[in-house]
Amino acid sequence: MKLLIMGPPGAGKGTQAEVLVKELQITHVSTGDMFRAAIKEGTDMGKKAKEYMDKGELVPDSVVVGMVKDRISQPDCAKGFLLDGFPRTVAQAEALDETFKELGIKADGVINIDVPRERLMDRLTGRRICRSCGASYHVIFNKPEEEGKCKCGGELYQRSDDNEVAVGNRLDIYEAQTQPLIDYYAKQGILKNINGDQDIKNVLADVLASVR
Ligand SMILES: [Zn+2]
Repeated sequence: MKLLIMGPPGAGKGTQAEVLVKELQITHVSTGDMFRAAIKEGTDMGKKAKEYMDKGELVPDSVVVGMVKDRISQPDCAKGFLLDGFPRTVAQAEALDETFKELGIKADGVINIDVPRERLMDRLTGRRICRSCGASYHVIFNKPEEEGKCKCGGELYQRSDDNEVAVGNRLDIYEAQTQPLIDYYAKQGILKNINGDQDIKNVLADVLASVR
């Protein structure tokens, strides 16, 4: 089974991807991990990507698509894969479709983990960090025993990029970038909208029901 997964920051996409690949016995292809590995291994595409990154430039779509193509052509992806972190734009999605055509494969589904904006705000702005030891808490999901205080006695604070304005901006950017992509896959009839505002087990069950 060949799947793609997307979801906004705070939707739990990473956790969901991990359980899903285990359940379906397919390979997790995270473009972030793939980038680091290709550069470390010094593949042709890895070398190209590094050239751009060393110059502080964005890696062009053609290079990223090339890396994805190399990766999904490997034997461990023959039984299926879950592509995570790519594409992020319609242009990339079109390039990916071309690549799939060249390889003679087809995406079975694009999983979109959907969580209402207010819930994402709660999840993303609730993080608190200990000034002394760096431990991470959450005001709803992982409360400290004593409010504002770490186990170690250190003071808890909110990182500046976790405040409401910064998180709101992050979500705005994500929505603006992703909506055209969602429309693109909806038109192809392979978009699977999944309610991500529920227990991890139930999210997984819904995902499995949508692709099986
Ligand atoms: Zn601490």
